[in-house]
Amino acid sequence: MNAKPLVLNSVQLAFRNKLHKEVHNYRLALRNFSCTRIRRNTPQTSTESDTAEEKPLLKFRNKLLNGPNLKHFFKDEHLRDQENLPEDEVIPYLQDINRYTPNRKVYFDVYGCQMNVNDTEIIWAILKENKFERTPNLVDADVILIITCAIRDSAEEKIWGRLNYLKGIKKSRLKDRPSLKIGLLGCMAERLKEKVLEKDGTVDVVAGPDSYRDLPRLLALTENNQRSVNVLLSLDETYADITPVRLNEDSVSAFVSIMRGCDNMCTYCIVPFTRGRERSRLVSSILREVEHLSEQGVKEVTLLGQNVNSYRDVSESDSRMDNVTSLAKGFKTVYKAKKGGLRFADLLQRVSGVNPEMRVRFTSPHPKDFPDEVIQMIQSHPNICKNLHMPAQSGNSAVLERMRRGYTREAYLELVKHIRRYIPQVALSSDFICGFCGETDEEFEDTITLMEEVQYNTAFLFPYSMREKTTAHRRFQDDVPPHVKQQRLERMIQVFRQTALRLNTAQIGKTHLVLIEGYSRRSKNFLQGRNDQNIKVILPSSEIVPFKDGSGAREVNVGDYVAVHVNDANSQILKAIPLYLTSLQDFYAEGYLRSAVKMQL
Ligand code: SF4
Repeated sequence: MNAKPLVLNSVQLAFRNKLHKEVHNYRLALRNFSCTRIRRNTPQTSTESDTAEEKPLLKFRNKLLNGPNLKHFFKDEHLRDQENLPEDEVIPYLQDINRYTPNRKVYFDVYGCQMNVNDTEIIWAILKENKFERTPNLVDADVILIITCAIRDSAEEKIWGRLNYLKGIKKSRLKDRPSLKIGLLGCMAERLKEKVLEKDGTVDVVAGPDSYRDLPRLLALTENNQRSVNVLLSLDETYADITPVRLNEDSVSAFVSIMRGCDNMCTYCIVPFTRGRERSRLVSSILREVEHLSEQGVKEVTLLGQNVNSYRDVSESDSRMDNVTSLAKGFKTVYKAKKGGLRFADLLQRVSGVNPEMRVRFTSPHPKDFPDEVIQMIQSHPNICKNLHMPAQSGNSAVLERMRRGYTREAYLELVKHIRRYIPQVALSSDFICGFCGETDEEFEDTITLMEEVQYNTAFLFPYSMREKTTAHRRFQDDVPPHVKQQRLERMIQVFRQTALRLNTAQIGKTHLVLIEGYSRRSKNFLQGRNDQNIKVILPSSEIVPFKDGSGAREVNVGDYVAVHVNDANSQILKAIPLYLTSLQDFYAEGYLRSAVKMQL
């Protein structure tokens, strides 16, 4: 290749000269800057050239340069332990935060799902460890933590209303008390982040669902009237090493979180954005927690997760690395099949083995993750309850496609039939959304006919509420008018109630096993508990009831298993009279599974 002579025109020459000048000025500035830096550590003296007017300025500059620096600023009695550390290991801002927080009283204001209740128990464990106290009275609190939900607009509206109310309490706080701090935690915090701080001066701390370990530090920062935010989502946070402290220690039931986040990306759902990617807790830590609860006398655990039956623990070295996720027939996912690890069926088996007298439930599952292994596990273990949540969301295949649920109406109905064949006594519950983007009257009718065909014992029914960030928000129009959504909601409620009444009335005259939870909310003359299908059962208190084996009789207590005779029902509850005190194993020993088809895998 021939080298061409460098020929510059007049514009290029002018540009080159300008560039040279810039470089020269920059070098000069750099030299002056270095001199200033060197001078910083040398005592300043005045020179002959200093004028009389410059002297006060020089004096001030000398004072600044020879005064305390950042290191002096951080040095205080709480850093003494760090004095012997090499300088680069001293972390001034990680001081003993307990000095800011001893015995501060915290009040929990919990909204949303069971996951939020369990998260609150994790938060309480973290704060208790850091010397906080808990108060049941809002007016006594030094810190109010609101654990929020972002799933629907109405849920967020409720929280804004609450913040308004708390603003008044915060302002009227007497001057002789430490100022009240308010923290906004959970999904809404994750979704709205800084907006919460900008819009509303009431909030001092904003923490997302993966930031709860950081709460003591975030709250310590508020002592200096700073406001603090941590909404980082994690790929692996499961709080596995934290044993939640139960909010109601007298309760016979408890929640155990087994996984967090969701990979399904249903188009209407904000959860993957507020709770992050799916990750499972180690099976060993789950079992430890369940054992601990069993020792405390807990008789029922509910395993929790956003897609609970997608559980997969890949930590154990012997976990089967080649087993691919097996889905229910006719179901698909948006993500690549996951390989290896202990699955939900394995976990169910191990958890139910901790204490055969302890009931096991789980929520919230996705219908795709009900392969035969899971159905067989539920069928064959008397203490795994026979009530399944099967969120359908819609009964129309085109709507399901727009929702990206990964199944059709036909596949869903086929799965229900399959489950009922092997677990005939199963009670089903579901979530339904009406008025999703573009839902026509005909498409909505399919939801009604699905509800009538399946017959749910419990249903959670909602009008669609569009959430920012979701796929539906980007792709679709929220075009079903609010009054139409309301009409469709009322129709769903009506159909559900009729079905539930029919199902509950059919139980009159039958015997059920009930775990007693406490007194009925309405009267101490009645006790309330739940049967295996998770239906509330009301029975008279203060009755002397015999033991099944004839060994005596006594009053029924909280935590007892009682066989009851159902004598009345409405769409929500069963009413019954107690027959005898028993154990879970004894009750099911005779005739258990007699009516079911044995499932062979
Ligand atoms: S499976 Fe449930 S939590 Fe996950 S994206 Fe769908 S609706 Fe949301």
